[in-house]
Amino acid sequence: MSGRSLNSRLFRWHQARRRPLLIREAADPWQVLVAEVMSQQTGIERVGPAWRRFVDRWPTPADLAGAGTHELLAAWSGLGYNRRALALRECARKIVADHGGRVPQTVAELDALPGIGPYTARAVAASAFGVPVAPLDVNVRRVVSRLLGVPSSSSSLQAVADDLVSRRQPGRWLDAVMDLASATCIARAPLCEACPVAALCASRGAVVAIEPKAAPVPFAMTSRWLRGRLVAAVTAAPAGSWVALPARLGEHDADAIGATARKLEREGFMDLRGGEARVRN
Ligand code: SF4
Repeated sequence: MSGRSLNSRLFRWHQARRRPLLIREAADPWQVLVAEVMSQQTGIERVGPAWRRFVDRWPTPADLAGAGTHELLAAWSGLGYNRRALALRECARKIVADHGGRVPQTVAELDALPGIGPYTARAVAASAFGVPVAPLDVNVRRVVSRLLGVPSSSSSLQAVADDLVSRRQPGRWLDAVMDLASATCIARAPLCEACPVAALCASRGAVVAIEPKAAPVPFAMTSRWLRGRLVAAVTAAPAGSWVALPARLGEHDADAIGATARKLEREGFMDLRGGEARVRN
């Protein structure tokens, strides 16, 4: 199969089917990096408004490097996994200290920044700097694996994906593959009859069955929900003020709240004294 003919079909389809995501308006490498960090564990459609507020408030790494924790957590509200907010500030500080305040361009330099893993490093390199590398998250991995007939667990998948990525427009290629993953090459039942690259696809729907997942735990029962609620409760108070830890949050009792608060203290989010907490600055 020719990667070039596959990509030209993909791009033709994408001209009409490109999702108008707010984060695709990213205008510089810093805005791309923030968008990628926010999208790591939050649905790409949900990220847009928070991303826009964030990059308007802190338009450069130097701006974010000086941000206070209270304001940072308030800006991150609703995105979940708020450890990423502190890691992003560390990332900004490292960019200022080691790269003169400019986002570095190579995968290796990006990968060395706090909070940036191999996927994000490749996504920023491809989208912000045109480096022809394929970022492999669960969606890209699924599409490439099906297209090329290579098991998604194969150690060669990264290399074959890097061969497939458009040399000239790697960022556009990534957007197109992500949109294909969402439109036709969906996880459980791919819509191959509607797929623009079906004629060139190695599996064409003969997709390895995906094991049914165990019934998910209701979100409100998870520690992630509790973390988010606790951070929101403490952040809602003015900066520097102490707030009594709630006796109960949803299904979570005082023991669970206390344990989560101590974890947040160890991670640098908040200070504790007695039964009170405040955002650490
Ligand atoms: Fe996915 Fe089917 Fe398209 Fe192949 S033909 S890329 S399996 S949707």
